[in-house]
Amino acid sequence: MIVDRQGRRFRNLRVSLTSACNYACTYCVPNGKRLVAAQDELSAEAMARGVAYLIEAAGIERLRITGGEPLVSPKLETFMQAVGQMGLADISLTTNGQLLGKKLPLLVDAGIRRINVSLDTLDPAAFRSIARGGDLPTVLDGMQQARAAGIKIKVNMVPLRGQNLDQVMPLLDYCLERGYELRFIELMRMGHLASDSNAFLQQFVSLQQLLSLIGERYEYLQADAPVDATAVRYEIPELGHFGVIANESVPFCRTCSRLRLSSTGWLHGCLSSSNRHYVGDLLDKPRHQALPALQRLLVKALGDKQEVAFSGGATVMKIIGG
Ligand code: SAM
Repeated sequence: MIVDRQGRRFRNLRVSLTSACNYACTYCVPNGKRLVAAQDELSAEAMARGVAYLIEAAGIERLRITGGEPLVSPKLETFMQAVGQMGLADISLTTNGQLLGKKLPLLVDAGIRRINVSLDTLDPAAFRSIARGGDLPTVLDGMQQARAAGIKIKVNMVPLRGQNLDQVMPLLDYCLERGYELRFIELMRMGHLASDSNAFLQQFVSLQQLLSLIGERYEYLQADAPVDATAVRYEIPELGHFGVIANESVPFCRTCSRLRLSSTGWLHGCLSSSNRHYVGDLLDKPRHQALPALQRLLVKALGDKQEVAFSGGATVMKIIGG
């Protein structure tokens, strides 16, 4: 197994199935262009082989399918069928939920039991201005259908000063009432925000600010979370849980176990590093040739991890797979 000096190893793989997205969230896609996929995306078969090779070469245990928007990808069905047979302990999905209702039968058949839905507001006007695509009622309906099908839902919200801070409590209440676990994600210095500190600081909302807001209405206690969790988790007694992925306020690099594979065949060991390692050519090779080469690249990818804290990354989240 490949382990670094801090005892970290790759356990969790995030696969960005496509870089195309049917939204163009302001903090992720500054040029506002939707549904643009890279020219040189790998096939579903090659990506599934990548997962199989990484299970062996890196000891991957859990897979999250992300993007771009994974549900717009024509590769989804073939990819899911293939990875569903690899004996992974857990396969989950991150989506904006726009196509969740439509794709639900496929997801249920493939054995998906946990889905994270990104939703920054319940206000239709704010939704239009942040997501710049999609339709809010369709997302809410998709979540409701998924819950009825027995899928555990987490909702991801990026709080943005001046845009959706007034939605923190409505969204929290909405989630608590329905048994969805809300995860606030502190805005990250990714893509254009890595080089534009003003834009970042103007919008950034910290863990402490969120807790003060929530504390005005609810008592909360810190709850248990797995050792390599990215979120600080809280319990509101008798009502439910919420979490905060606090990249800036409570960095979690010391225990990071994530590896990312992009839709064009690049491995990323760290969101904060501009290093990436091309494996697309290895995925057409037989196992005995691919694995040794892959292991050499995994050592480099693990070496890319920050020691303590995320410090910003030039790559756009929708390319690297959020
Ligand atoms: N399309 C899917 C979705 O919307 O969930 C998956 C990809 S999206 C890039 C994954 C997550 O990254 C979303 O929850 C999104 O809000 C988050 N994200 C994108 N850019 C971010 C940034 N700069 N800071 C924090 N979160 C970001």
